[in-house]
Amino acid sequence: MISLEDLRNIANDEGIPVLSVASVSSWDSDTIVSRIVPTDMRPGNIMDGCKVAIVLGLPIGYAMERIDGKRTYVEAYDIMNDMIDDAMERIAGEIIDDGHNAVVISRNRRDSKVIFSNRCAAYLAGIGTFGANNSTITERYGPRIRFGTILSDIDVETSVPMDHQICTGCMRCVRACPQHLITYARPLSIIDVEGCAEYSKRSTASGKSPCERCIDVCPIGK
Ligand code: SF4
Ligand code: SF4
Repeated sequence: MISLEDLRNIANDEGIPVLSVASVSSWDSDTIVSRIVPTDMRPGNIMDGCKVAIVLGLPIGYAMERIDGKRTYVEAYDIMNDMIDDAMERIAGEIIDDGHNAVVISRNRRDSKVIFSNRCAAYLAGIGTFGANNSTITERYGPRIRFGTILSDIDVETSVPMDHQICTGCMRCVRACPQHLITYARPLSIIDVEGCAEYSKRSTASGKSPCERCIDVCPIGK
């Protein structure tokens, strides 16, 4: 039977330093996530017999050290997604070889349809807590980390959400937004997601990188 240590060893071998597991039942029992994640986007409704969500985390700085610094932001983003996808495919392969099922929620989807919230999975797996910029913030890397998730029916040790907030409420992210799209609230801020996507699209089209200022300014993990 594949263990948590086995999963972490494979992830580490693929250059992914963070891995934790959430129980599928937490999507229904957690007071925040059960309110914001529609039922058709919960693991139990995506994969028959799903018991756990295995969440991988790749810190952006960690990945940048491994890739050519001359890459554009978009290229670097794709490379990070590839790293996460490769690690998830390898872990899923090991799980299937062990006689169980695994479904990889790929990072490199080219359509814009959101089918799963990795930030909620990371929160439920105890990797971080929600920040005012609406990302999942980790103690060590702040919000500068990308997540990927594998759904599976294995029996493995799971974690629970942290019992303390990592976000200090400093409001730097709220003030940094050039479009004033973040309305601070607890436990989750309200972000004009369409306005943010539109601004990032314009910014990328004019040769600049996507915005992400609300991520860059966060002091956690710096
Ligand atoms: S990414 Fe930029 S535009 Fe979008 S909410 Fe963050 S700071 Fe605002
Ligand atoms: S910048 Fe401050 S308020 Fe915003 S997420 Fe980071 S710690 Fe929280």
